[in-house]
Amino acid sequence: MSGTSTLVQTDRLTRVRARLADAGVDALLLTRAQNITYVSGFAGSAGAAVVTPGAAYLVVDFRYIEQAALQAPRFSRVKAGGPLLDAAGALLAQLGPRRIGIEAEALPVGAFRRLEAAVGPSEVVLVEGLDHIRWLKDTAEVAALGRAAAIADAAFTAVLPMIRPGAVERDIAVELEYRLRRAGSERLPFDLIVASGPRSALPHGVASERIIGRGEFVTVDFGAVIGGYHSDCTRTVVTAPATDRHREVYELVRSAQAAALAGLRPGMTGREADALARTPITQAGYGEAFGHSLGHGVGLQIHEGPTLSPREEAVLAPGAVVTVEPGVYLPDWGGVRIEDLVVVTDAGCEVLTRLPKGFYEVET
Ligand code: ZN
Ligand code: ZN
Repeated sequence: MSGTSTLVQTDRLTRVRARLADAGVDALLLTRAQNITYVSGFAGSAGAAVVTPGAAYLVVDFRYIEQAALQAPRFSRVKAGGPLLDAAGALLAQLGPRRIGIEAEALPVGAFRRLEAAVGPSEVVLVEGLDHIRWLKDTAEVAALGRAAAIADAAFTAVLPMIRPGAVERDIAVELEYRLRRAGSERLPFDLIVASGPRSALPHGVASERIIGRGEFVTVDFGAVIGGYHSDCTRTVVTAPATDRHREVYELVRSAQAAALAGLRPGMTGREADALARTPITQAGYGEAFGHSLGHGVGLQIHEGPTLSPREEAVLAPGAVVTVEPGVYLPDWGGVRIEDLVVVTDAGCEVLTRLPKGFYEVET
C-alpha cells in the first residue's frame, strides 16, 4: 500500500463520517461487503464495520484477522468468536451511542431485530443510500475499470471467430470465460450471456446448449473483474445471410447508442440520459421493445448507482462510471443490445470499451 492510497482511504472515512451527521446518528454499522471494502480497504468476504466520529472498527473472525490488519490499518480490529453481527452488537452495546444507523438496503430484518435487542437502550435507525459514497470514482478506480474493460475487449476479439453457425452457445461462453480468466480477470462478473436466434430477444439469455443457426443475431454480454472492479460489455453480431430487418434493427440500436454517448454529460439526470437513446427508439416505433433502463452504475458491484433510467432523478457528475446499453428485443425473432462502459467527464463522457460497433456479419 502506498501513501497515496492511505490518503484516499482517509478521505473515504471522512465522507462516511459526514453521513453520520446527515443521518443524525452517533455510530454507523456497515454490513454491505462492497461498502466495507471501499471505506476500509478490507477485501475479505466476511466482515462488519462500525464507524463513529472518533473511531473505526472492523469486526472479523479468526480467518480474516491478519488480512484486516494488512488491508485496513486505520481500523481497530475486533475478533468475533461467533456470528459477526452478534460481535458487532456487543461492541456497539459497549460503545453506548444514542442512535445507531444501519444500512437500510443491506441488513436482513431478522438481523435488525437481533441487533436492536443486543444494543439495549440505543435506538437503531435506517440510513438509506449509503452506497452513494461509491458513485463517483477516483483515478485509481477508473484505471481498474479501464483495465477490466481492456481485458474483456481482448477476450471477445479472440473468441469472435468461434461465433458461427453450428457452434454451441455454451462452448463460446466457456472459451470466453477461459480467455477472461487467463488475462487476469479475478472471477466472472456474472453468468456470461451468449444468446442466439430467438434467444437473443431475452435480455438475460445466459448461454445455453442451443446451436447457432444461419441468419441469426448472437448477443454476447460479458466482462472482467480487476481489483474488485467490474467491466460490462455487450456486442451483437449476425450470422449470414443477414436480412434488411437485421440491418434496420441493428442500425436503430447503434445510432441510439451513439446519440446517448454523444449527449451524455455531467449535470443531466439519469432520466434525461436515458431519454437520449429512448427517444429515437420510441420514434422509430420500437419503444415497447426497449424494456429496460439505458444503463447502470458499475464499480465494486456489477449493478450499482447511478442508473440511467426513466425513474432516476439523481444528477450525473464527473467520475460516475455507467453503462450505456440500449436494446431492442422482438419476441420469437431476435434482439440487439450494444453496451459500452463509460466514465462521465467534465465535458461529456469517455468510453472505456474499445471494441468496434459496426454491423458485423459472420460469413459462412
Ligand atoms: Zn452487460
Ligand atoms: Zn450492464
